[in-house]
Amino acid sequence: MKLIRFGNPGEEKPGLQLPDGRRIDATGFGSDWDEEFFGGDGLERLAKWAEANAASAPTVDSSTRLGPCVARPSKIICIGLNYADHAAESGMPIPKEPIIFFKATSALCGPNDDVVIPKNSKKTDWEVELAFVIGKKASYASEDDALSHVAGYALHNDYSEREWQLERGGQWVKGKSCDTFAPLGPFLATSDEIADPQNLGLWLKLNGKTIQNSSTAQMIFGVKTLVSYLSQFMSLLPGDIISTGTPPGVGLGFKPDPLFLKAGDVVELGVDGLGVQSQTARAWS
Ligand code: ZN
Repeated sequence: MKLIRFGNPGEEKPGLQLPDGRRIDATGFGSDWDEEFFGGDGLERLAKWAEANAASAPTVDSSTRLGPCVARPSKIICIGLNYADHAAESGMPIPKEPIIFFKATSALCGPNDDVVIPKNSKKTDWEVELAFVIGKKASYASEDDALSHVAGYALHNDYSEREWQLERGGQWVKGKSCDTFAPLGPFLATSDEIADPQNLGLWLKLNGKTIQNSSTAQMIFGVKTLVSYLSQFMSLLPGDIISTGTPPGVGLGFKPDPLFLKAGDVVELGVDGLGVQSQTARAWS
């Protein structure tokens, strides 16, 4: 199944994207795609509901705004430098253990919302990533069991303000958490739709030119390892979003000079099987 949320910011309703591409309103199911939904038997009940009701459910017009494909979770955890060649372009050593940082959940937005260049930002940058969403709570999960804790996968752009991330002291969270810095979607694909999360192409274009183009096969720490690793330090709750890191091609790594977003720039990105996003950059006001 492909789960969507649609409507105005903060007022999103749950929906589904059907195999034929039609989007339907799933308000009749009676729940948003949130912690309670993922933690219970929500996905099983939703599959049954869809079987009985998809044909007669109201269609969501293709011009309707999509919101983030899951409701605001307890946390967004990101993995840093998880592609060896991205670590190299960032001038950082290849990590021996996963580098983890948080992103404020208030950064979540829809897949095609404008990205707002924050007030006083000079170094707003892009990062196409594979994200996954927790289904069953994970605490001290083994690698063997890890994928049973994953509800599904989604496309994420881990926008980053490099000066605030790297030059202002403290933790990376400062440069990762601005409003609109976490477009998620267009949909959450349930795990059964993604045969191998470690074999997905991912790409990003800036103003029509491809600048990130890689495969999740290049990750240092894969999804299985990350679920198990993270769950040694904290409980992963249903609905939590984990973003698995970006391949090379971010603006910070451009030679001879880094390249950052300016108002009017268009960023398009995709991951195999998880759809595409498009954001236009605009200045904070
Ligand atoms: Zn990232």
